[in-house]
Amino acid sequence: MIEIKNLHKSYRMGSNSLHVLKGINFSVKEGELVAIMGSSGSGKSTLLNILGMLDGYDSGEYTLDGVLIKNLNETKAANYRNKFLGFIFQSFNLINYKSAWENVALPLYYQKVNRKDRRQKAIKYLEVVGLKPWADHLPSELSGGQKQRVAIARAMAAEPKVLLADEPTGALDSKTSYEVMDLIQQINDEGKTILVVTHEEDIAEMCKRVVHLKDGVIVEDRVVNQVRASQYV
Ligand code: ADP
Ligand code: MG
Repeated sequence: MIEIKNLHKSYRMGSNSLHVLKGINFSVKEGELVAIMGSSGSGKSTLLNILGMLDGYDSGEYTLDGVLIKNLNETKAANYRNKFLGFIFQSFNLINYKSAWENVALPLYYQKVNRKDRRQKAIKYLEVVGLKPWADHLPSELSGGQKQRVAIARAMAAEPKVLLADEPTGALDSKTSYEVMDLIQQINDEGKTILVVTHEEDIAEMCKRVVHLKDGVIVEDRVVNQVRASQYV
């Protein structure tokens, strides 16, 4: 599904250059639930943004579902993004003046699905995340955990092959974090490939595999033997 070979990325600021990813090699198969772990500044978001085609890289190769993601023009990148990828962010990134279902339906709008079908599909995914009764509410009427559930429903609405989550529990208390991870586990159980960036060990242990980034390289890539279930953490 995802294959990365000797990936390098630097940020240039004037005459300075910061080498953030220094030769990353890893691959993710369909159906995996992978945590990308590492302390703040280790390059997790940089890696996820490259995987999400939100940013480019300097050298190496990134292949997604058999397509080499390199030097794509913005239109092509946007097309692949819509088709392959769903995003979940720490700060939810919901549109405040749109209801829960309208937020979920937004990716479908870009896929040119008509309004009636958009609403139907949005409600279906709100039901998956347990928020069907909240379909007509605004984000300001929802708790943090509920907002993240709406964001997860939105990420799933376009039926992407891969979900990419950058610190999805970063703005939530522990209990709510575990509930959100429980939902992510459920979605993965149904076969979705999911990558979760986190700096929290207990969140990483709720994934099936942990890839540990440090100073721009992978220092550990291990299978989680006993995946944590939310009720035990
Ligand atoms: P993490 O998500 O693990 O905290 P990031 O990938 O966000 O780490 O950042 C890795 C390093 O790259 C940090 O030192 C950060 O300051 C730097 N960095 C991130 N984005 C940019 C950018 N757009 N321009 C310059 N430096 C950046
Ligand atoms: Mg980050």
